[in-house]
Amino acid sequence: MRTIDHLIAGPAGGGALRMSDVFDPNTGQVQARVSLGTSADLDRAIAAAQAAQPGWAATNPQRRARVMFKFKELVEANMDSLAHLLSSEHGKVIADSKGDIQRGLEVIEFACGIPHVLKGEYTQGAGPGIDVYSMRQPLGIGAGITPFNFPAMIPLWMSGVAIACGNAFLLKPSERDPSVPVRLAELMLEAGLPEGILQVVHGDKEMVDAILDHPAISAVSFVGSSDIAHYVYRRGVEAGKRVQAMGGAKNHGIVMPDADLDQVVADLSGAAFGSAGERCMALPVVVPVGDKTADALREKLLPAIRSLRVGVSTDNDAHYGPVVNAAHRQRVENWIQTGVDEGAELVVDGRGFQLQGHEEGFFIGPSLFDRVTPEMQSYKEEIFGPVLQIVRAPDFETALRLPSEHQYGNGVAIFTRNGHAAREFAARVNVGMVGINVPIPVPVAYHSFGGWKRSAFGDVNQHGMEGVRFWTKVKTVTQRWPDGSALPGGSEDGGPSRIQDAFVIPTMG
Ligand code: NAD
Repeated sequence: MRTIDHLIAGPAGGGALRMSDVFDPNTGQVQARVSLGTSADLDRAIAAAQAAQPGWAATNPQRRARVMFKFKELVEANMDSLAHLLSSEHGKVIADSKGDIQRGLEVIEFACGIPHVLKGEYTQGAGPGIDVYSMRQPLGIGAGITPFNFPAMIPLWMSGVAIACGNAFLLKPSERDPSVPVRLAELMLEAGLPEGILQVVHGDKEMVDAILDHPAISAVSFVGSSDIAHYVYRRGVEAGKRVQAMGGAKNHGIVMPDADLDQVVADLSGAAFGSAGERCMALPVVVPVGDKTADALREKLLPAIRSLRVGVSTDNDAHYGPVVNAAHRQRVENWIQTGVDEGAELVVDGRGFQLQGHEEGFFIGPSLFDRVTPEMQSYKEEIFGPVLQIVRAPDFETALRLPSEHQYGNGVAIFTRNGHAAREFAARVNVGMVGINVPIPVPVAYHSFGGWKRSAFGDVNQHGMEGVRFWTKVKTVTQRWPDGSALPGGSEDGGPSRIQDAFVIPTMG
């Protein structure tokens, strides 16, 4: 069976003591085993990073950017094989895997502009003869701990910016789909990145704790579920590190009475069920304003949901594939049962779905709940599966309060033709990323990504200028140069006595 090992520069370590199974969610079979690393593995990676990082930081930013350009070309050339590998471990359909990789590459495109971004600031004459300038310097060694659901995009959010800024970066990807992160790191090396600047260490809590406690790591970027994000944030900060930790989500789509319902239904088909709902920017809650809107929406949603095709990742006509593993499928089905027990109306039940010829695969059919209320546990918590919940709101103010008061605050969307309602909503909603007639408002790479409340701990977002701020520290220099009389070779020993003279004399011969 294939084994997936760490990608650590330098001498090899001993074999792994613990391994974890990597499944193909389409078949339910174990297809590989991944090493679960220890602090000894981390130490080896740190030693390589420490040896390589000063040279990389001293490499001019244009050369660092050239590696990013080359890497982008290599990933594009390998897009098909990367997408297939990704789908085979995650379960998302090939088009979604390509999207996952493409969104990551867009951060690499941003990183290609790093020479411009790192230019710094300068004030001439801040005082008599005094100039002030500030520059952004790399932190040294940074680490990223990433979730299973975007095994290309999220590692590239972090590593692209961290590395372009001159840091060494250690990636600890999800143990559930670790192959694509390793492959991306190999392509980065092929693009000319010096060994030791990007390394991959696999593992579970043991490796995460080793990263959080290691004194040589200055910053940790985490993306995953909220309880673990909060834990990572607390432990990392306690160890004196800079930490950003993105967590779970429960994004709402508000549907105003004037919305184009056909468009909303088309948007929800993708946003609620695409990638089997395993997206932190999925739209699993829809809030129609007024019963008339709710009834009309429900009527249009039903045939749309029934027409969704669940299939294997390589089925080009499938809307979505299996969820990542059997435990997660069970978890999603348990939440559906909780919803039923709490009194929500289960309109479409996706439990017990089996795909013919793939009976062992981790498939779940789409589910729709109506008359979900804010008191229900199944509303309060993230389900992370192909389940859409309708929460009816009598008016705009109630609809605005629902996402604003929810424990999560990642993304939200409003569907309306009314500019004033949209503007009010965007200004007042207590959520980090807002879509206006855009169901999944993931910001483009040169803006930045980050939610509010329990969707993110720490105060700096991912990628864009926020990412550059996270992966660098500012040094500010206040300078005053002596006048000519104090120059070496100045007036005391008969040399040039003024600054102007110091420059003029050599050219006069
Ligand atoms: P997860 O929290 O289970 O795992 C994330 C990472 O933490 C993995 O690398 C894992 O190995 C590690 N980990 C797992 N258990 C740990 C423990 N006890 N201690 C320390 N580390 C541990 O998340 P997941 O299931 O891989 O990903 C799905 C979650 O990620 C969802 O909640 C989703 O909303 C969230 N997510 C958030 C964003 C965002 O930007 N806000 C983006 C993508 C996913």
